[in-house]
Amino acid sequence: MKFSGIVLHDSGCPNVRSKAGYDFFVGRDGLVTPSNDFTDDDHLHVCVEGDFDDPIPAEEYLLVREQMFTLVKLVLRLASLFEFDPQSMSAHGDTCPGEEFPWHDLKVRIGRPPH
Ligand SMILES: [Zn+2]
Repeated sequence: MKFSGIVLHDSGCPNVRSKAGYDFFVGRDGLVTPSNDFTDDDHLHVCVEGDFDDPIPAEEYLLVREQMFTLVKLVLRLASLFEFDPQSMSAHGDTCPGEEFPWHDLKVRIGRPPH
């Protein structure tokens, strides 16, 4: 298996609603669920639970922080396992994940992995 990077989705994605189109699902509760089959030969697809079209509500902020922490660990592990640059993450499309998805936070944390 050789992958060149990760494609991120949110759970509002039509591909994801059909229960296909992702390899790992990162729940807002921090649980990671793998799917049975690989989605494509070139990229791993990770779905982040939530709808990032609107700003994250204050009461969900801490949950989303935890969720991002889990996502960072997952990305770092996959990158090391399949030998690609953990910064090679891309969005599925213009609206997936939604425009409030915390890319900046994610990339900063990936850039400074915990030791
Ligand atoms: Zn998508």
